[in-house]
Amino acid sequence: MNTNERFLDANIPDELATTIRPKTLSDFIGHESLKNNLSVFISGAKSRGEAMDHVLLYGPPGLGKTTLAHIVANELGTNFRATSAPMLTKQGDLAAILTALEPMDVLFIDEIHRLPTAIEEVLYSAMEDFKLDIMLGEGPSAKSVRIDLPPFTLVGATTRTGLLSNPLRDRFGIDLRLSFYSPDDLSKIIMRSARILGTEIDETGATLLAKSSRGTPRIANRLLKRARDFASALKSNKITADTIKTTLFQLHIDACGLDEIDREYMNMIIKHYAGGPVGIDNLAAALSEPADTIEDVIEPYLMQLGFIMRTPRGRVVTDAGYEHLGLIQ
Ligand code: ADP
Repeated sequence: MNTNERFLDANIPDELATTIRPKTLSDFIGHESLKNNLSVFISGAKSRGEAMDHVLLYGPPGLGKTTLAHIVANELGTNFRATSAPMLTKQGDLAAILTALEPMDVLFIDEIHRLPTAIEEVLYSAMEDFKLDIMLGEGPSAKSVRIDLPPFTLVGATTRTGLLSNPLRDRFGIDLRLSFYSPDDLSKIIMRSARILGTEIDETGATLLAKSSRGTPRIANRLLKRARDFASALKSNKITADTIKTTLFQLHIDACGLDEIDREYMNMIIKHYAGGPVGIDNLAAALSEPADTIEDVIEPYLMQLGFIMRTPRGRVVTDAGYEHLGLIQ
């Protein structure tokens, strides 16, 4: 398994992944205060008959940003249009999407921190005044045109707000941060997904699985599906704590939910850099992983567990990190 596969809904047929995805705020488990606020903003926009203010969602992968964007559109009763910043390479790509919007639509832009500057600038007037300013033609005959857009709600998702420019960030009226889920909430998510998948899982199994899912619903769902495979292999139709233990053992996942990539990351710092500090670029080269994958996918949970620290001089493994690996500093 490579680092990114960890976050794919691998082997879930599309229609099943869609069924598992919560459709309403009440189906969305956890993050109670975020849901309460969002529900007030949605009701307000609906009662005024206006487009809801633009929303910025941020947090590590797999925590529900895309799901929430779908829910916003669903609860507003509008269309959901989606794109991803790396797919927008020319101003015309964004213009085509914006001019096809209908009034009050929700436009979701994933990985919004990766928008090229020229395209980001087109977004400013689109977000603020619902106007599209674009240049037609090239050279001396080029002219700027202004097109009216229907009112719409932009939902931007990012794993890193730090990479967002201030002018773009300022144009979002609603800022929502998704943090890692508690084992209790993950347990509920697992029970719900198991019900939808038609799989039986007992409470101890769900609790154990929840604790090993890195606080991340997408990982919980993926491990649930693997546990279902191991249960079938064992000719059982129920997932128990034993099935989960077998699944975690076979996938080399430890009691904290760390896998080989996490351990390799920590071991690399300890063995090659005396526990740190080491800069992200050196680590990325040593691990043959892109630096942003390390920053988005590996490090947030290790920091949450207190196993590593990001310091101005680089990454450091903490005493707790050494202890987890059975090493002494
Ligand atoms: P992101 O866009 O942040 O990477 P997604 O919205 O794609 O994450 O969520 C990954 C999967 O996890 C979804 O398909 C959904 O089934 C599940 N999920 C995420 N958040 C929740 C939640 N709060 N309750 C139930 N399931 C969730």
